[in-house]
Amino acid sequence: MHETDMTKALILTVHDWWQAQPGQPAIEKVHLTVGQFTCVEPVSLQFAFDVQTKGTFLDKAELVIRETPLIAFCHPCQTEYRPEIGWQYACPHCQAPLEDIRSGRELKIDRVEYAEAAAVSQGSV
Ligand SMILES: [Zn+2]
Repeated sequence: MHETDMTKALILTVHDWWQAQPGQPAIEKVHLTVGQFTCVEPVSLQFAFDVQTKGTFLDKAELVIRETPLIAFCHPCQTEYRPEIGWQYACPHCQAPLEDIRSGRELKIDRVEYAEAAAVSQGSV
């Protein structure tokens, strides 16, 4: 996935939300959940965000990235496990191939913090 395009989508989502707010509050922080399995580099995302928000309504806003680990579920074992990204996409107990991903593919805006108070924003990028 490409961080630049993703950041564009992210900014558009926040912009839509922001325009719907009364008085268009000054946004201070954008909280993002990024799953490890999305292969998104938080550093690249941060950089793209800084570049693309310059001079916009998000110029002063900070991007806060929370990474979620990759967690899979093995049906034969009825147990959750953490596959090692890059070399082992199988259950460590029975070697069943990775089928069911429970967490780690998220890429969404958690919430947006603005001047007065924190607000909850729904939306996926
Ligand atoms: Zn298993």
